[in-house]
Amino acid sequence: MSTAPETLGFQAEVRELLNLMIHSLYSHREIFLRELISNASDANDKLRFLALSDPALLGQDPELAIWIENDPKAGTLTIRDNGIGMSREEAISHLGTIAKSGTAEFFKRLTGDQQKDAQLIGQFGVGFYSSFIVADRVEVLTRRADAPPAAAVRWQSTADGQFTVETIERAERGTSVVLHLKEDAKEFADPFRLRALVRRYSDHIAFAVRMRKEGAATLDHEVVNQAQALWTRPRAEISDEEYRDLYRHIAHDGADPLAWSHNRVEGKREYTSLLYLPSRAPFDLWQREAAHGLKLYVRRVFIMDNAEQFLPLYLRFIKGIVDSSDLPLNVSRELLQQDREVEAMRSALTRRALELLARLAGEEPEKYQQFWREFARVLKEGLSEDPGNRERLLPLMRYASTANTGNEESVSLADYVGRMRPEQGRIYYVVAENLEAARESPHLELLRQKGVEVLLMGDRVDEWVMGHVTEFEGKRFKDVSRGELELGGLADQAERARIDEERKENKALLKRFKDALGERVLEVRVSERLRDSPACLVRGEGELSASLRRALSAAGQSLPADKPVLELNVTHPLVRHMDALQDAEAFGELALLLYDQATLTEEGQVANPADFGRRLNKLLVRLVGQASAV
Ligand code: ADP
Repeated sequence: MSTAPETLGFQAEVRELLNLMIHSLYSHREIFLRELISNASDANDKLRFLALSDPALLGQDPELAIWIENDPKAGTLTIRDNGIGMSREEAISHLGTIAKSGTAEFFKRLTGDQQKDAQLIGQFGVGFYSSFIVADRVEVLTRRADAPPAAAVRWQSTADGQFTVETIERAERGTSVVLHLKEDAKEFADPFRLRALVRRYSDHIAFAVRMRKEGAATLDHEVVNQAQALWTRPRAEISDEEYRDLYRHIAHDGADPLAWSHNRVEGKREYTSLLYLPSRAPFDLWQREAAHGLKLYVRRVFIMDNAEQFLPLYLRFIKGIVDSSDLPLNVSRELLQQDREVEAMRSALTRRALELLARLAGEEPEKYQQFWREFARVLKEGLSEDPGNRERLLPLMRYASTANTGNEESVSLADYVGRMRPEQGRIYYVVAENLEAARESPHLELLRQKGVEVLLMGDRVDEWVMGHVTEFEGKRFKDVSRGELELGGLADQAERARIDEERKENKALLKRFKDALGERVLEVRVSERLRDSPACLVRGEGELSASLRRALSAAGQSLPADKPVLELNVTHPLVRHMDALQDAEAFGELALLLYDQATLTEEGQVANPADFGRRLNKLLVRLVGQASAV
């Protein structure tokens, strides 16, 4: 039974979004067509899936397709599908609110730069509202596949903050989106332009997209796209442009992918996969609940989005499709989790994805750098998460290094090993709070003096990750801030002898330091690694760094007391002066200052900043007093 139109208000976020669509998107206006065709295709996919268990839903109209019609006289452009359709409630919620998580983040990211914002809109998947870029009035006529003709709906809006819905009679199943084109958007009603655009945005779509034949009678339609799932076609017949268009459709990303890998597996297990590597991180990469995973098809029937079981979490940035010939059509998420087949596919797809990365790194290093800048932290998780693929992952890592001046992470382990000195047995690295701190770390003074390269890591996850790897191509990793330096063949005999000598000569001094510092340190010893700084803190191989301790205790873990070793540069003038100092109290103050300073260099903070300041001031007062007395 038809009803009078009911007027409802848009959700505030939608109003804001519509404003943006209408007032600030002038370039790339044609994206609305991509979004609407995409929605129509999704609607058909959903119905095809439901019809698997309830074929009656297809009724008299079994061939799912999409129609694009323009009526130059009326100034309208209509995108129609015969898919799932919407009920009144669905129309109200789907076309009046944004249901997605991360809406606030989306608005925060808007820059005012049209091109960037247009891409963001695609990425966020608010496609329907892009209709208002070209239309000043949008009508949606829709009937759910399981509803009678009398329960169809007309939704209508002029984007002025509200929309109307009314129940209408509609024989056709599915949805028609009728765009009343703005004066300045009439170009989209031009048959030539329209046909070219429709082709462009629909070649990868698995449904026929039909348009009226040029100059033909009203009902004479022709199919303008390939209407075959792109991934089922042979690789050689698919153009790069087609691959990119499919990517935009499945990834909701307006930017081009960096690379892709399309494969068919035959034999015991049969499936096709098409994996894409995006060129930039989605805004929700770090949100725990963010959707990820592949689009799953079974024998070309769309089954579900975000099938997470086909790739490990550390490859969550990969977008793509997997189309299986063996899985049952009624497969559910729960089944996917238990299925042995799926497990085997997951390891094969993981390998494919890693091969894709390796190929990019080898053939297009600049693009690989771009990938690294966006996704390094995610990929690194793999080193701890996926021991079985460590050998494949390590060559993909990139680091900043003392061999380079900039902080670009571009040195691979193969580069490093290739440059190693013949007598060098270890891959040296240092982890700090950031790359500047790593580069300035006192722990690498000796190695720098010797001209030995050290890899610089400036991320908290690095310490965690490096705890899971031991060697690369038979060369052991060595954190230069821990334990002994393990110089091996790099050690200089004369130097060793000198250090042994220093140890003997400074026994008493070391004891004075240990007494002054008490339980703060495990031990005070003569340093081998320092050259310019007077002191540094060193921890044991397996011990947690201060920053990791902080993170863990913030997460509520109770940890045993932290006791680093204080290493002294006994040739440093300050340390020499202290050795000569008789005043025990002054010695104690200085020892604490040195310790705090070493802590500060290492951790960026001291346990008791007020104490530190007081001690420093006392010293400064003395210094200034002396200077003015002269
Ligand atoms: P997205 O497609 O990313 O979810 P949109 O703003 O494009 O975002 O669409 C919002 C919702 O409206 C869709 O998720 C879908 O439920 C519904 N919808 C849009 N177009 C159609 C259509 N042609 N048929 C059925 N439902 C549709």
